[in-house]
Amino acid sequence: MLIDRIEIEQVEPCFADETKIRLIARIPTDVSELLPFLNALLANATYVGEGGGKRKRAGQANSTAYAVDRPALTFTRGPRLITVYPRRVTIAKADDVADAEEVLAWLTERLNYVHQHREEIEPVTEGKIKIKPLDIYGLLPQTNCRECGEQSCLAFALLLLQERHRPRDCSPLYREERWKGKRERLEEVMASLGLPT
Ligand code: SF4
Repeated sequence: MLIDRIEIEQVEPCFADETKIRLIARIPTDVSELLPFLNALLANATYVGEGGGKRKRAGQANSTAYAVDRPALTFTRGPRLITVYPRRVTIAKADDVADAEEVLAWLTERLNYVHQHREEIEPVTEGKIKIKPLDIYGLLPQTNCRECGEQSCLAFALLLLQERHRPRDCSPLYREERWKGKRERLEEVMASLGLPT
């Protein structure tokens, strides 16, 4: 068995839905090479390989303020948005710690499975998930203040996916501390899609 257990390291309220939690968990070994094999088994995942994107900022090893490692595999499981990096996992919109532990136990089993059966699986290094404008909209302030020059946050979300805006064009998102969680999650999602952050 490659992995015994993936341990939760940090739990926070989920900024997209305050009735849920988001968390970071530590994978005890580097699973970079397994992610294309896990991608092959998941119907709704997106995989971003090495190269591009930002690395963890110095001095913020235990903070959600870090940006994106590579490679990364993002997928949904029910309402939960899960991203697996080489040595860590982030889960957003989990019900509670017990719910997240179930997801992590499932992920542990899946990683061990692909490790054991990788000779039989054709790895996939391309994404299959489609992020919708409404998913991005949920990570914006949703005030329709028009500072970005668009009529609404939803219009801005659509243009973000078309690479006609960058997250920083939403000034309130970067200016106001109350949007810190949304900002960080938006940057993670953008980077996982290979879009500019
Ligand atoms: S600046 Fe940000 S909050 Fe204001 S409308 Fe544009 S996307 Fe929405």
